[in-house]
Amino acid sequence: MPHQWSDEDKRTFKTAALAEVNSHILEAAQESSAVTGDWEFFCECGQPDCRELVTLSLPEYASLRERGEPVLAPSHRLPPGTRLPMLIDAAQELLVQAKRRARQTHTGPA
Ligand SMILES: [Zn+2]
Repeated sequence: MPHQWSDEDKRTFKTAALAEVNSHILEAAQESSAVTGDWEFFCECGQPDCRELVTLSLPEYASLRERGEPVLAPSHRLPPGTRLPMLIDAAQELLVQAKRRARQTHTGPA
């Protein structure tokens, strides 16, 4: 039986994945000639139905990242008490656990 992710886990993954995508947008933006313009980043609230884009200049995005804050559309929020770096760490930890569990399922207990 495959591991079932809770809704909270899925939300954590989505936020972490979008934060990663946004960091690639930053890289692409830095390599392009339009460094001074505004760019569209993904809202990182992690809600399953959220497809909002947030327009930010590169300095605005960079300053959010420096403070460890997520990119959020107006009125979108992370779950209370959570911080973006925590969610990224949590997503990585969930993946590690899932891989460990998958390995045990395939090979049986050591
Ligand atoms: Zn959102």
